[in-house]
Amino acid sequence: MKVTVLVGGVGGARFLQGVRELLGRTSFPDVLAEGLPPSEHEVTAVVNVGDDAWMHGVRICPDLDTCMYTLGDGIDTDRGWGRRGETWHAKEELAAYGADPDWFGLGDRDLATHLIRTQMLDAGYRLSDITAALCRRWDPGVRLLPATDDRHETHVVVTRPIDAAKQAADGTEASEEKVAIHFQEWWVRHRAQIQTHGFAQVGSDDAKAAPGVLEAIAEADIILFAPSNPVVSVGAILSVPGIRGALRTAKAPVVGVSPIIGTSPLRGMADECLSVVDVETTPEAVGRHYGARSANGVLDGWLIAPGDSADIPGVKVASVPLLMTDPATTAQMVRDACDLVGVSYE
Ligand code: GDP
Ligand code: CA
Repeated sequence: MKVTVLVGGVGGARFLQGVRELLGRTSFPDVLAEGLPPSEHEVTAVVNVGDDAWMHGVRICPDLDTCMYTLGDGIDTDRGWGRRGETWHAKEELAAYGADPDWFGLGDRDLATHLIRTQMLDAGYRLSDITAALCRRWDPGVRLLPATDDRHETHVVVTRPIDAAKQAADGTEASEEKVAIHFQEWWVRHRAQIQTHGFAQVGSDDAKAAPGVLEAIAEADIILFAPSNPVVSVGAILSVPGIRGALRTAKAPVVGVSPIIGTSPLRGMADECLSVVDVETTPEAVGRHYGARSANGVLDGWLIAPGDSADIPGVKVASVPLLMTDPATTAQMVRDACDLVGVSYE
């Protein structure tokens, strides 16, 4: 069976652990986990790159790295991102130089990943090739594909105060300005606590899906949306030209898992992001935001938590436990997704 999963960072990575638990390890390009028989199933994760950014001259890919470290057993499980056993000497030294940005958590171990990625980008490799190369070390057991090799960064349009020095330098009377800042700056630096008007993808105007992405969608037996952030994770993937269209014409059913239980996201910033795009924080509103494939949307099925309800015209809905407490529990969510649309996973 071929399974294609759209994923962000922490929620996406945990969901992939459940998929891998159920279906076994897929050999990644030409490497296999040592001594392990390959699964006859093929799992492809299409990973959000909207959070990617340049920091201190290196390319950061937070969601790709969260998936790679989580599945490769190198993640700091308490933080949910970055490397276990991390130290922060480089960050402290950068701060001592007064280097900007000073709000970004750049770990020493993590830095090695970014250095290799940046060197390979400089040498002309595509992000998808680089990800495959990094995964040779981490052996995630699923194929990790960036949604696109092109720059497709999520920016946030905000109104922010102009400080007195800048006012003087620019000779402006205005005390605030409307600007687009990188998503990382919005979330990590401002914690989303700033007047926000909308999201926009910034990068190449003709971004296209990375090699293998559209094929993985077209040839899948089932397509799953992890319970990732519907706006800045899954939403950013859907905004890569070609991906939404591929989902709409795919032969496989598409089933999403709600990141919202009751009226709150489990962790992360779905709340803040949904309110910016005027979507209520409920499983029904998020399901409707994705919409039915039969009505110009992207879903055939939608899993919500017990006790929740959702009426989404054209979409089959089931209530099942949605807490990803461990891979075995999450595997049951994947079974439930298959059952909802009558896809056999044996
Ligand atoms: P990020 O890129 O690290 O922010 O992670 P994702 O976008 O992949 O996932 C973030 C979303 O995962 C949040 O909006 C949470 O609501 C959701 N989430 C986290 N843990 C769980 C869980 O156990 N169950 C469900 N259903 N959603 C979860
Ligand atoms: Ca993310």
